[in-house]
Order: sequence, then structure tokens, then C-alpha cells
Amino acid sequence: MNEKNTYRFDTRVIHAAQSPGDWAGSTLPPIYQTASHYHPSAENLSDTFAGKNTDHVYMRLTNPTNRILEEKLAALEGGMKAVVTGSGMAAITNACLTLLRAGDEFVTGNSLFMSTYLLFANVFKKYGISARLVESTDMEAIEAAINPKTRFVYLETIGNPKMDIPDISRAAEIAHRNNIPLIVDNTMATPYLCRPLELGADIVIHSTTKYLAGHGTATGGAVIDGGNFDWPEERFPDFKPFIDRKGPLAYSDKLWREHHINFGTTQAPLHAYLTMIGLDTLALRMERHMSNAMAVAYYLSERDELSWINYPGLPDHPSHTVGRKQFGEKGYGGVLAFGLKDQETCFRFIRALTLVYHLANLGDCKSLVIHPCSSQYLSFDEPTRRKLSITPDLVRLSVGIEAAEDICEDLGRALDSI
Ligand SMILES: *Cc1c(COP(=O)(O)O)cnc(C)c1O
Repeated sequence: MNEKNTYRFDTRVIHAAQSPGDWAGSTLPPIYQTASHYHPSAENLSDTFAGKNTDHVYMRLTNPTNRILEEKLAALEGGMKAVVTGSGMAAITNACLTLLRAGDEFVTGNSLFMSTYLLFANVFKKYGISARLVESTDMEAIEAAINPKTRFVYLETIGNPKMDIPDISRAAEIAHRNNIPLIVDNTMATPYLCRPLELGADIVIHSTTKYLAGHGTATGGAVIDGGNFDWPEERFPDFKPFIDRKGPLAYSDKLWREHHINFGTTQAPLHAYLTMIGLDTLALRMERHMSNAMAVAYYLSERDELSWINYPGLPDHPSHTVGRKQFGEKGYGGVLAFGLKDQETCFRFIRALTLVYHLANLGDCKSLVIHPCSSQYLSFDEPTRRKLSITPDLVRLSVGIEAAEDICEDLGRALDSI
């Protein structure tokens, strides 16, 4: 184990997978902007293909800058190996398809990121794969939906914009009792707030585009392999060659060999570099995102213009207790949702904001607002929107790290004007 892994999280987030003497003494890794790598001999290249050395060959396979980000993310989540991808969606696609064949099923919480929902409900269906969607926090429903064809259980740490928090330890117990792994998309919580592998999950996914990069500068994704699941042969016969080759890293090897390389889900090393700049301040930013979100939630709770507010940090929220158990005293994430009178009122509110940016993203250090029903979910039919709690009166706010008073004053002025 790297001695850096004994430091506290806030130190590891800066120092994991690097030492002062690395890279000519620079404080961040260089951007290895090269499509391919020179090899001194045919023997050396052959050894690389045989896995006898870890040299780089071609950017679609591996890249030195990306590898450092992979080592950092594996260290922060407490996993054995990470594979970074060009976006969060590429990570999700790879993570799931590594486990799925035509005719397979998986069980997923229904409180899903919009593109994940479309991938699971529509796209996978074309290949004969069925996603069984159940209420994300309903553990009995998760267990009841598992059958001999089920290959994994899939959850998000904090749903968006539902803000529901499933009990990861209980979900992991249920998955393991049924000999299948638990995959968790930890984008909304980040490893600062929650480390699903420590709670029993087997695979963690990130869209690094959000809090990990933190500045809205680069898309990216990651799949982190806990290395603890043993892939029982009767359920996962296709894992045998990967177990023989890589033992506990069978899953990440299969993901990389079968999907990452052949689908071409490469991350640009510039994006890995930008993500690592962001990562250095993750602990500090998350602390502020969450204290600001709490302050904004209390401020908005007092405003008569709101018909409802949804933030798990508020003591009467249905997920508050599970959140406290899972996240301790740290907080409840930086995103909240609330209701105004109707869609037209939401539009007027968004127009009246001057500090908060109106755009489709979250986890940026700047505060961001969006009306999901008329944008990201515009193509969804009405019953599906209702199932996902996307109502025309819903405004979603990703609370930034500005002064909380300025955010509240901007929201307050906009509410005054509607
Ligand atoms: C944004 C997001 C994704 C998708 O990530 P991209 O980097 O946009 O592809 C997946 N899951 C969650 C929870 C997200 O917020």
C-alpha cells in the first residue's frame, strides 16, 4: 500500500498517487499529448501486449496522464483499480455492458440521471437487456425484482432531482445474498461525502465532469473496481478468462479489454489534467457547497413563494436519516430542488437571477439553475416524467461556493420579482 493512503482524506485528495520528485518536480502531472508511444524494440512492444510491463502503446488503450488520475481516483474511493473514460455516460455504459449479455436483466433504482434513465429504459432494450426499475429507497422492492437472470443492482448515492438516498449497506447485503454485485454512481456525493466501497458496494462510477473537476471545464468519467467480488462461475461464466489473467482485478480487466478499448471511450489527457487541478480542492469545495446548500435550503424554506422544497439536509426530509447514517455530519450534497407556482413562474424566476448561472450542469463552483421539465426532460412523456418526479413547477439548483449571503440575496430578489 502506498504510504500516502494512510493520510486523512483531505490530504490524500491532494497527494495520492504523486510524490514531490515526480515529473521533473512539477506539482501536477504533465499532459502527455501523444496518440502513440515509441518502443525501443519489437520484444518490448510484444511484452507490453503480453502484460509483462505496463508501458503505454496508444492513447485509446492507456495514457500516462490518465493513469495518474486513475490511481488517484482508485485511492480516494478505496478501490483497487480505476478506468477513466471520456464522459460519465461512457463510464456507465462500460460498467454495465461488462456485466450484461443479450437476455440478461439488472435491477436499478428509478431515481436516475436523465441520460442513464434513457440508456437503461430504451437503448439497452434494443440489445435484449431488461432494466427492472424500482423505487431507489425500497429495499424490499429491489430484492423482489432479482431473479436468476439478474446480473447486478444499480443505485445512485443521491438521486437527482428526487434527492432520495438509498441505504447502500442494505442494498449491498441484498445483492451479495443473491450472488450479484452492487454498482453505485457516486457523482452527486463524491468520495469526500461517501465511499460506497466501504459500505459494501463493489463498483463505483463517477461523472468527473461535476464536483471532481469542479469548474465546468472538462467532461470525464471513471469506473472504480473494488476488487472484492468473486464472480461466482454459475452466474458469471464469462469471467473465467479474466479471473485467470487478473484475479481480483477481473472486472476492471474485462471492462478495459472488451469495452473501453473496443468502444473507444477514451478520455483526452487534457481533461484528466483539468480534473486533477479540480481534485486538489475537492474537500474544501465540498465543505462549502454543502454548508451553502444547507443555508440556502433554510433561507428558501422561509419564503412563501415556494410550494415545496426538497433537500435531504432538512430534518423532515424522508432520506434525512439514511443520509445522516451514511454521510455522518459532513452534509447532504450541494443540489436541491423546489417548487414555484407553475412553469411560467419558474421561467420568470430564472430570468430574474443575476448571480446564478442558467445552464445544464451541476457541481460547478458557480451556482447553477435549471428548469428540468422544459429542458433535459422535454422529450420524456408525461407518465415517465411523473414517475421521475419531474413536474412543471420544479426548479433545480446546484449551489456553488460563492458567499452564501450573495446566493440567498440573488434568489430572494428573483423571488420578489415573480
Ligand atoms: C452528469 C451525470 C452523469 C453523466 O455524466 P457526463 O459526464 O455528463 O456524461 C451520470 N450520472 C450522474 C449522477 C450525473 O450527474
